[in-house]
Amino acid sequence: MLDVREVRAGYGVTQVLHAVSLTVRPGEVLAVCGPNGAGKSTLLRVLARQVRATSGTIAYGGASLLKDSPSAVVARGIALCPENRRVFPRMTTEQNLRLGAYTRRDRSKITEDVERYLAAWPVIERRRNSPAGLLSGGEQQILAIGRAMMSNPSLLLLDEPSLGLAPILIDQVYEGLKRLVAEHEMSVLLVEQNVTKALELCDRIAVLTAGRIVFEADAAGVEPDEVGSHYWETVA
Ligand code: ADP
Repeated sequence: MLDVREVRAGYGVTQVLHAVSLTVRPGEVLAVCGPNGAGKSTLLRVLARQVRATSGTIAYGGASLLKDSPSAVVARGIALCPENRRVFPRMTTEQNLRLGAYTRRDRSKITEDVERYLAAWPVIERRRNSPAGLLSGGEQQILAIGRAMMSNPSLLLLDEPSLGLAPILIDQVYEGLKRLVAEHEMSVLLVEQNVTKALELCDRIAVLTAGRIVFEADAAGVEPDEVGSHYWETVA
């Protein structure tokens, strides 16, 4: 279980997260929605130890993450699929996938996992030897998710998988995500601006506004408009 308590963080003198607390239970998908600039990506970067928390606690499986390096966090089972896909454009699709397994030692199992992911995704399997930079936006997103999956995560941090994609590709990416969540024993912390899509995948939903969680609920029965109505809330 991921347990985040009163975490503050920012860049230089700019504080972005103001006492954020949340939990992600085993096997659960928690979506964090909110307006642009609310601090959603920063939250994921703090969890991946790419941005330092200035105060608060973060525990995973009962042990603190706050002394871990970014690669130690990956080795503990937490993988970040960053915003804007960020594949390595000159490396092939297959090489990009293999990079995601850099903390693993089980070589033969890595090959098996790469082959299984490619087999599940014919759209990128066809391009396995092409430079990733030549893939379409949707294909690159599927590849970026696959690269994160190659570390065998028990917690996947997913930053805006729908960003910049045409509606039909968003549907494809979300169908794939539903399949991954069903097939793997993992939790997901999903950051997403597309509330409708987030609600299709998540068990619980939270709204982060100006660095604070202002709303949290079970996803069942929550309407997108209700989530959106919390975007401009301020907390005293
Ligand atoms: P969101 O993901 O909700 O759109 P971000 O976490 O990306 O929000 O950004 C929150 C705030 O932090 C914004 O005001 C943004 O300009 C600022 N910010 C994000 N990344 C950096 C950075 N690397 N350096 C300085 N400020 C940043």
